Amino acid sequence: MKFNTKVIHEGQGVDPVTLAHVSPIYQTSTYILPDYAAAVEANKPGDPGFHYSRTKHPSEYELSCKLAALELTEAAVSCASGLGAISLASMNLLSSGDHFIFGDVVYGCTHTLFTKVLPKFGVEHTIVDMKDPEAVRQALRPNTKMVYIETPSNPTLKCVDIRAIADIAHSQEGITVVTDNTFATPFNTNPAELGSDVVVHSLTKYLCGHGTVVAGVVCGTKEFVQSCRAPYLQTLGSTIDPFAAWLVMQGLKTFAVRMERHCENAMKVAEFLEGHPKVERVYYPGLASHPSHEIAKKQMRSFGAMMSADIKGGMEGAATLMDNVRIFGLATSLGTVDSLIQHSPVMSHAGMTPEARHAVEIYDNQVRISVGLEDVEDLIEDLDQALSLIRHA
Ligand SMILES: *Cc1c(COP(=O)(O)O)cnc(C)c1O
Repeated sequence: MKFNTKVIHEGQGVDPVTLAHVSPIYQTSTYILPDYAAAVEANKPGDPGFHYSRTKHPSEYELSCKLAALELTEAAVSCASGLGAISLASMNLLSSGDHFIFGDVVYGCTHTLFTKVLPKFGVEHTIVDMKDPEAVRQALRPNTKMVYIETPSNPTLKCVDIRAIADIAHSQEGITVVTDNTFATPFNTNPAELGSDVVVHSLTKYLCGHGTVVAGVVCGTKEFVQSCRAPYLQTLGSTIDPFAAWLVMQGLKTFAVRMERHCENAMKVAEFLEGHPKVERVYYPGLASHPSHEIAKKQMRSFGAMMSADIKGGMEGAATLMDNVRIFGLATSLGTVDSLIQHSPVMSHAGMTPEARHAVEIYDNQVRISVGLEDVEDLIEDLDQALSLIRHA
């Protein structure tokens, strides 16, 4: 199957009881066992049935099978949020005394999990600029267990070479490579094809696409996903609820066509911003001026619909833009059908110190833009009129 067909048909069946065209929402916490012998089987690892919705339920399972098919992995497990998925994968992979490596630009709360929560459990980390894969080799230690990649990264769209980093990580035994593929989505990149062992997503973004749920997924081998379900999901309890899973399934039906338009619109918006006198710099991997353009061309089918821009006139200039757009919503999320704008320093990356932010090019006059599916002429006109209100020499 090619991509569009896969998005619609893979990993999903007809409801066996009613033959409903669209799978029902299995709104139940528990499942009746036919007999005592089934109860004895029920808790064995890898049991294919449904017993209690904290570890697996049909709405979750159908969604996970589809996502595994889109990410070219054996299996997947869906979670209550993207961070739920990232916590699940990292708790599974790391024990006290272990070390892991992650990139210097990652989603704000991922940074918080890695630098404030995991250290409490005796897990050490090294933050590296992954634009040079050799930096990952330099950071390897005998106790390194996970290398965590986010590409393109939030919010500066820095891209890293998944293949090169995975090869370096795998040169040492016992290291699992995890990639957050939220920004690229499987429409643009399949990290598993490039050597990443595990792929995580915030389904809240493009995969759902409509801003109606918070959800996440961990994709990987059958064995890894099974161990994520039990004991980790079983005990951490970051389970996706049936209605949320069902909503993501509905959103996914239009995922491929949405992505086409998202990426097409984003390229035009990025070009417009790059030529605008009130804009200092645009961060979009589709632009030849972006330092990651070559890597992006190598591992992305198109360049996604996220970008950041440094606005002239400092923080005040950025605020004028955000306060005066009419179509763009001022909101922290991304990947929805409607266009959004936010201020990374005080919103998504408020958890980092100003020094840490500036060191990785998250500047105070920087806005992050999620380009939606509106007519691109309207989006450009909206940005233009708001930018024109900035008073700057
Ligand atoms: C939003 C996001 C997350 C976190 O996902 P939630 O669903 O909000 O928990 C993780 N990584 C990236 C790149 C994101 O954009």
